Amino acid sequence: MASPISDDSETWAWKLVMEDGGPIKAPVTVKYTKLFINGEFVDSVSGKTFETFDPRTEETITSVSEATSEDVDLAVKAARAAFDHGPWPRMSGQERGRILHKYADLLLQHLDEIAALETWDSGKPLDMVKMGDVPTSANIMRYYAGYADKIHGLTLKMSGQYQGYTLHEPIGVCGQIIPWNYPLLMFFSKISPALACGCTVVIKSAEQTPLTALYCAHLSREVGIPPGVLNVLSGFGETTGATISKHMDIDKIAFTGSTEVGRLVMEAAGRSNLKDVTLELGGKSPLIIMDDFDIDEAINIAHRAAYVNMGQICMAGSRVFVQETVYDEFVKKIIKRVQKQVVGDPFKEGVQHGPQDNMRIAQEEIFGPIMSILKFKTIEEVIERGNKTIYGLVAGVLTNNINTANRIARSLRAGRVWINSFYASSPDCPLGGYKMSGIGRELGLKGLESYLQVKCVITPLQESPWL
Ligand code: NAD
Repeated sequence: MASPISDDSETWAWKLVMEDGGPIKAPVTVKYTKLFINGEFVDSVSGKTFETFDPRTEETITSVSEATSEDVDLAVKAARAAFDHGPWPRMSGQERGRILHKYADLLLQHLDEIAALETWDSGKPLDMVKMGDVPTSANIMRYYAGYADKIHGLTLKMSGQYQGYTLHEPIGVCGQIIPWNYPLLMFFSKISPALACGCTVVIKSAEQTPLTALYCAHLSREVGIPPGVLNVLSGFGETTGATISKHMDIDKIAFTGSTEVGRLVMEAAGRSNLKDVTLELGGKSPLIIMDDFDIDEAINIAHRAAYVNMGQICMAGSRVFVQETVYDEFVKKIIKRVQKQVVGDPFKEGVQHGPQDNMRIAQEEIFGPIMSILKFKTIEEVIERGNKTIYGLVAGVLTNNINTANRIARSLRAGRVWINSFYASSPDCPLGGYKMSGIGRELGLKGLESYLQVKCVITPLQESPWL
């Protein structure tokens, strides 16, 4: 994101910003730049810092403290102590839920400041962050806050002179690593279920976008989350991230990012203490358009599927399969639609695309606003081609025939399939990948369960069971 712009074909977003009279001044100042360990903002042990950039101008916004392995050790120590001896896992679920609801309230109270920081640091359009990322983050926190006092096991009747029960316990100290494309949303998707379960957390933001995570670390203190429960580190993948992945005192790692790095995280977890691993990785998702579906509505859905968040979204519907009878019309109309896309300064009202990364068009997952439009004839053919990828994150099908919709939805190997829509979501819908798109699920009840250990307790009965 912050790399020098050199190739003309990759600079169109930037140039439009400049032609438009220069960047708008970010309406916010940065207050939190240090590491957040054990409830305090502290310098890194080494004193190292790194710069975070405004992607509109490539100018430095500020310097933030850089966590190295010594800082990771300190954060893990704090999280371990808070888990083993602190009040958070031991307080009632009701009390934990109350604090987490307050956290969501505070997030919304500071919506303008947080949204401006996010736009400044990441280049995401401000409108989108205000209407989407911030309220959705608060909703995720509320969803899991509601679960905090509803975590319970089962009673097991057993055969013979025994009975059992299961206890669902917090898994322990959690290491979490997030990417730059949805910095705030990823932060809350990760910490919310962990905190609701009573776990403690060491989370590393992406090196390109550290600012909103630090701001939200400050809010966690305001709402009364005890010291050591949430530790927020800024740092790089090969150092901070790798140290978290292999740390012997971390019980679980939750990673969101590229498939390539996910593999490294899993290897490190395997080679160290076999910590529990969940991975939310890349995608190359198909959107299938049958010829019985309204073409203009298909254009709306396909356009959003490929271009929302500048195409920098793991779920992007970047492979659009269009049935041959409507293929030419679709291509003509989608080109017209894309040309209307408003590109410019993300602080400006109505802008849909801010500045972008260098395009990774030569790579498997482009992670940019690119749509491949592919022609198909039959349902069998499109199912086979739709599945022909190493990924399996999400998929979509547009048709008026319920049988076709159901058949395709059941045949695609993807963790989420939309019928006649794309991206509709809420915190109760689990998300995760088949194949090389990941392991485990985030969001929903499944997302909560991934932060719980199940213990089975068995006890003898003095007398034979009555029934
Ligand atoms: P990335 O894999 O390069 O980086 C993600 C995070 O991993 C960053 O915090 C980075 O510092 C860290 N990291 C890098 N090397 C590491 C290492 N060796 N050990 C431990 N941590 C390391 O990904 P990115 O470019 O930041 O994000 C884009 C990718 O994320 C895309 O592939 C996208 O599909 C994926 N993504 C997936 C989801 C999902 O829910 N499935 C959501 C958002 C993004």
